[in-house]
Amino acid sequence: MPELAEVELSRRVWTIAEGLTLRGMSGNALTRIYRDCSLATLKRGLRGAVLVGSRTHGKRMFFEFKGGITGKGRCLELHLGMTGRLTRSRTSSRAHKHDHFVLKTREWNLAFNDYRQFGRLFLHAEGFNPVVGLPMEVLSKGFSLAHMKAIQERRSKRALKAVLLDQAFFPGVGNWMADEICWRLGYHPAVPLGQFEAASVRRVSRMVCRGAMKHIADGNTEQYQEEVGFSPGNYVKRTPPADWLFRHRWKAGGACPKCSRVLDRGVVATRTTAWCSSCQVSR
Ligand SMILES: [Zn+2]
Repeated sequence: MPELAEVELSRRVWTIAEGLTLRGMSGNALTRIYRDCSLATLKRGLRGAVLVGSRTHGKRMFFEFKGGITGKGRCLELHLGMTGRLTRSRTSSRAHKHDHFVLKTREWNLAFNDYRQFGRLFLHAEGFNPVVGLPMEVLSKGFSLAHMKAIQERRSKRALKAVLLDQAFFPGVGNWMADEICWRLGYHPAVPLGQFEAASVRRVSRMVCRGAMKHIADGNTEQYQEEVGFSPGNYVKRTPPADWLFRHRWKAGGACPKCSRVLDRGVVATRTTAWCSSCQVSR
């Protein structure tokens, strides 16, 4: 499942069409990506609209459109799911297999490609801002120490990793980021959140989110300029540096970048987890 930086990287694939008018739309209406919103609804709602902006929130992407037949603003929300990816290609090029939803401008085809179809999309009502009311983002100003303490109070007995993976509290944080945060805090991922200093959890989780954005989103933006999109499944060419757990946690026999001990593996909070039993204490 892509995490906040991979989602941000995906969003940027379509920004090339900002300011451009939609000339058409196509897709395979029978695929599961339309389980929340039919292709017919999308066609009706976005006909002739202009892509005016976009943003991410955690693992969600929002593309804002104006004009068209309604004359008002509407937001298209997209979730990549497990295998979804956004691509762009010149209108003269051929469609790819599994391009289930394609927005067309005069110059570009913007496609949502998803062979397993766990991804989904949704067209919000006119004038509705879908970001209002979503959980506070880790890198936003509102993710203050008081906010962190409030999370800690509500989930003091739950394992740190379980809370980090909870999208209601840490939107956009996924498995590798949660492991990275636990490792940097020096505690086993199963230690209850109540045992931590709220300030440390806040500082380290923000640091890892910032680093992920810098190394994965910013670090790979050039890469997809020359290609046809970005697939979280294939992973990115540029990754965080070697002193991040990220670089070692995937491979069997991977060693802790701090102490060189071979990393331990197991299941914590129902997810495959890597940790260093020398650098990460259990209590
Ligand atoms: Zn270590």
